[in-house]
Amino acid sequence: MKNAKPSFVREILKVANRADIISFAGGLPAPELFDVDGIRDATALVFEKNSTAALQYGPTDGVRGFKLQVSELMARRGVNSVKLEELIVTTGSQQGIDLIAKVMLDPGDVVLVERPAYLAAVQVFELYEAELRGVDSDADGLNLESLEVEIAALKKEGKRPKFIYTVATFGNPSGATLSLERRYKLLEIAAREQILLLEDDPYCELRFSGETLPPVIALADEAQRPWIVYMSTLSKFVAPGLRLGWMIVPDGLVQALTIAKQAADLHTSTFNQHVAAAYLETGRLEAALPRIREAYGIKAKAMIDALNGSFPAGTIEFNQPDGGMFLWAKMADSVDTFAFVKTAIDAGVIFVPGITFFPDAKRLNYLRLSFATPSVPDIQEGVKRLARAVVD
Ligand code: PMP
Repeated sequence: MKNAKPSFVREILKVANRADIISFAGGLPAPELFDVDGIRDATALVFEKNSTAALQYGPTDGVRGFKLQVSELMARRGVNSVKLEELIVTTGSQQGIDLIAKVMLDPGDVVLVERPAYLAAVQVFELYEAELRGVDSDADGLNLESLEVEIAALKKEGKRPKFIYTVATFGNPSGATLSLERRYKLLEIAAREQILLLEDDPYCELRFSGETLPPVIALADEAQRPWIVYMSTLSKFVAPGLRLGWMIVPDGLVQALTIAKQAADLHTSTFNQHVAAAYLETGRLEAALPRIREAYGIKAKAMIDALNGSFPAGTIEFNQPDGGMFLWAKMADSVDTFAFVKTAIDAGVIFVPGITFFPDAKRLNYLRLSFATPSVPDIQEGVKRLARAVVD
């Protein structure tokens, strides 16, 4: 812990809560999209039917009824025949990242992460004293040629990465999605090199444009499947306050992960699992999802239009994501967005400077803009403030 750094995003969120600040910083779901009535009704149902089981301790790997709902959800994502034994319910997918790191990593082990990478995963791997190596990504996700080069370079050093961590669909912070071709190729590399692939998939339900792509795990053949750990969560499309995630893990890791989870928290809240199972059983999620996707699509477009309209030509470039919560933007090479965020805060808007997402490279001129939480008028006003701050 002596070397541990506090999360910059969590620090920044303290400022983001100020009433005079428009925040593009956190990846918080839009509160107006929570299905409050649906969850209230599901809670009432739990009390009618199952209250003592919901209030009691439960199995470490999760409540059967919730696991059944998760396996149905996974079938809708194209991952068929998930066995209940390979499914572990976690306290948010963040716990999945922590558990796999706890089980797999010894100090000095190498972990490959996409660059830019999800900050809180980097934080976990650093806490377990891993050596992080970044692999560049672009609009189509992880660059697999760079991945092969990095693996080969490590071999020359006599090292083998313990795993590759990627958010293949609507990346955080990149918003990028790994193309279908690259999904197959990534599986081929992981199985050939015998490196575990951690697919972290919190955002896949939030697609507002383009063709649906199956998660990487859905494309794995029998020989490739043992090389994948898949993680997902209800946080981004039901509610993060439930703290409900899950992992699909190869047989060989089930026992170790279950023991690690038992030591961490015995089990994830039984009450919340019962409520979520009741909610998913009612089918109300299917009714809520189109509204959620549409709302994020509208917000993303509002931010893109505002950026195009407010920034002088050539001062900012950004991706056009098909889903998720983030725009990943690049300013002129001379701009240090870490310094710029202070000017932005004075102008009444906040974002996350890109440097925080590069564990092993110093790239100063990027910023992550979340369009998920603010209203459309606030997005428009916030971008105007940001553009004014650039000119200042
Ligand atoms: N992975 C990624 C890529 C995320 O963006 C997040 C949330 N910010 C998580 C995991 C963790 O989400 P939760 O623990 O709420 O499921």
